[in-house]
Amino acid sequence: MVTTAYPNLEEHLRSWGLKVVPVSGWKTRSANSTTFTPQAVLCHHTAGAATGNAPSLRYITDNVLSQFVLGRDGTVHIVSGNRCNHAGVGGPLRGIPKDAGNRYTWGIEAENTGRGEPWPAVQLEAYYKLAAALCDMHRVDQEAVFAHKEWAPTRKSDPNGITMSSFRAEVAKRLSAGKGGIVADPVLRIGDSGQAVINLQNALVKHKFLVSGQVDGDFGPTTEKALKAFQSARKLTADGVCGPATWAALRKAPPAAVVVPAPTPTVSTGGKRMLVQFKGDNYVYEVVGSSLIHVSADAWRARGLTSADVKIVEPTHPLSKLTRKNEY
Ligand SMILES: [Zn+2]
Repeated sequence: MVTTAYPNLEEHLRSWGLKVVPVSGWKTRSANSTTFTPQAVLCHHTAGAATGNAPSLRYITDNVLSQFVLGRDGTVHIVSGNRCNHAGVGGPLRGIPKDAGNRYTWGIEAENTGRGEPWPAVQLEAYYKLAAALCDMHRVDQEAVFAHKEWAPTRKSDPNGITMSSFRAEVAKRLSAGKGGIVADPVLRIGDSGQAVINLQNALVKHKFLVSGQVDGDFGPTTEKALKAFQSARKLTADGVCGPATWAALRKAPPAAVVVPAPTPTVSTGGKRMLVQFKGDNYVYEVVGSSLIHVSADAWRARGLTSADVKIVEPTHPLSKLTRKNEY
């Protein structure tokens, strides 16, 4: 038997203002006993009956088909704190490996026929909040929330009637509103282990300071080294201890990759770009790779070059075979 690694889940969700009804046995209910290391949220509709608040709850519970069933009135039923069978084949998506949705995501089955039934505002509000509360628990942002139809676009359409870009924007609003849960930022250091360390390691993967194969829940020398590198990259005290400032930096989206332009190959001119002019031609060209780029006199003079830097060659010089471009 497996016991949830999230015994405070109920309290955490309540702290977000959600109405929570735990289903008896949720802490030990599991689809199977294999690994559950959630770091994202997968959204569904139940495609259940058109009447009643949560008519699919019984079936989903009996078959362990998702961790949560969200009733039409916004009540969050906790079915399981362990792995469930809700994702199926799909992905890879948003850092979750192909076909590994059940291991890495919480499933929310929101009660809706999926046949054009309008979503009640109270249910949507709870949907956003539940997703935000789970993001908060894992120190991830709204980008970790996605739909079954995004995970498996060729075979799934749920949740029908919900545009996920808007959904994520609503989750972001609730995250920034600071309705933070009771799970305080734990101070982590070498020697620590457990779910909080998994959260830290997943955040370091998100920021590309660890790779996913290094997520093991043990804060050892590899994690410490990665954390120190992250801290110094973000201009924090690189002490290898994950405190509030480091958590705040980890929760931010990684900066866009800095694109370092490849050096432009040039014909060797002793360090200078070569300017060339063919006899009988008024244009001065810069030799860039396999091209000749027309450079106006103003442009090359502005760069401190003089006519002494312009190499005058015969019209038949091999450089004349290069493609000419007019870019300056
Ligand atoms: Zn689904």
